[in-house]
Amino acid sequence: MATSKKPTPKKRAKSRDSSPSIWSGLYGPVEVRRIQPYQARKTYICPGCHQEIPAGMGHNVAVPHEAPDLRRHWHYTCWDREVKTHA
Ligand SMILES: [Zn+2]
Repeated sequence: MATSKKPTPKKRAKSRDSSPSIWSGLYGPVEVRRIQPYQARKTYICPGCHQEIPAGMGHNVAVPHEAPDLRRHWHYTCWDREVKTHA
């Protein structure tokens, strides 16, 4: 007659990835800086769409507070979409 504790139900594994990503606080708040076209001197790959951000195109750079080395350059629109995903 052990009624003191019920077995803890196992957490269901979600099919969607809901673990925190770099961009949803894994490494602290993310600082977003706007890069002006004249500041964009290199081609970057946007992690949102895996397309190039050509030199000379204004974009965002997202810098995790605790891991600034992991900063990434994003198209404005891709970053907006990423932010909304975690909102
Ligand atoms: Zn993109």
